[in-house]
Amino acid sequence: MIESTEIVEKMTYNLIDLNRKDYLKNNNLNKNDIKKLVDKAYETQNLAEKELMFLLEQPLRHLGYLLKKADQKREEVFSDEVHLRAIIEFSNYCRQNCYYCGLRKDNQNIERYQLKKEEIIESAESAAKIGYKTVVLQSGEDEYPAQEIAEIIKEIKKRTSMAVTLSLGERDFGAYKLWREAGADRYLLKHETADKKLYYKYHPGMSFENRIESLKYLKNLGYQIGSGVIIGLPGQTKKILAEDLLLLKELDIDMMGAGPFIPHQQTPLKDFRRGTVEMTLKFNSLCRLLMPLVHIPATTALGTIDVQGRQKALKAGANVVMPNVTASSYREKYQIYPDKICISEDAGDCRQCIGSIINSLGRYVSQNAGHSLKI
Ligand code: SF4
Repeated sequence: MIESTEIVEKMTYNLIDLNRKDYLKNNNLNKNDIKKLVDKAYETQNLAEKELMFLLEQPLRHLGYLLKKADQKREEVFSDEVHLRAIIEFSNYCRQNCYYCGLRKDNQNIERYQLKKEEIIESAESAAKIGYKTVVLQSGEDEYPAQEIAEIIKEIKKRTSMAVTLSLGERDFGAYKLWREAGADRYLLKHETADKKLYYKYHPGMSFENRIESLKYLKNLGYQIGSGVIIGLPGQTKKILAEDLLLLKELDIDMMGAGPFIPHQQTPLKDFRRGTVEMTLKFNSLCRLLMPLVHIPATTALGTIDVQGRQKALKAGANVVMPNVTASSYREKYQIYPDKICISEDAGDCRQCIGSIINSLGRYVSQNAGHSLKI
């Protein structure tokens, strides 16, 4: 049996001499080679950077086996259960200026809003009433007082049995601690890209090191942590995506979100091409094989660029969907990227619609909070 490193070496060598079409024709770069790497990932949860790059490099039409094994692994770990996380986007104020994001502070063409404490708690209560088991409190990097957020968390915990996830960007370490003590269960903080050069290019004034330190600190505090990337950021390479996968593994995350880059007209990246469904599916399925226990959402961004995007992700390793339960009057003002789906539906309709999508795939909505399987 050929060793997987040999396969990569063989491919790298041959690719120098042959273009891809000839190479495929000459049947060395064939499905068996892909299968060996996928089987290695499936069995050992480990692939080297070059092996990951090789798989990310392949066209999706040759990766049916990868998607199938990711789906199989998902089924082994989570059965057919799909967890729903209800998102409340409670403020679109942000002090940062990320190049790809419609909420960036320099965007003057956006009506800013901030929900009041009681409105947030009531939205969470409504989400619990229609069956959600987790609420995600999400905002830009707002200056919402840390103490008030702590009170909101406590109140939600008192009035409902939901798990509380925070997605509030980078805040000071004291705030992370305060919120954990108030009862928050999880924290989402995407690292966006493992490539420092790219990170600094698109995140002016921010620190990659602080982001990673924040994730480690959050984990030490006992949060279940989530991170993730934007697929198709201009300048991103297969090598960078392979590094992303290895970094996520190293951080020992509990949740991973990867959605395609979608250019927003009010940002410096408005003229770049969006990320692809294909690459997002490859990344998600590799993530499932390398990190079997991790919760992976079928992202709304993927559903935005492909009407079947979330279904495709659910069939390629994903086990979570994150419907929006923010009052519809605010939803259109929270556009990190444009043309987001599910903007005008009310929370109850969304819940029904998502339930039908999940059932149509032969899966079912979980009735538990869907905590990390690592705890
Ligand atoms: S990505 Fe987050 S931190 Fe960056 S501008 Fe958008 S909301 Fe702010």
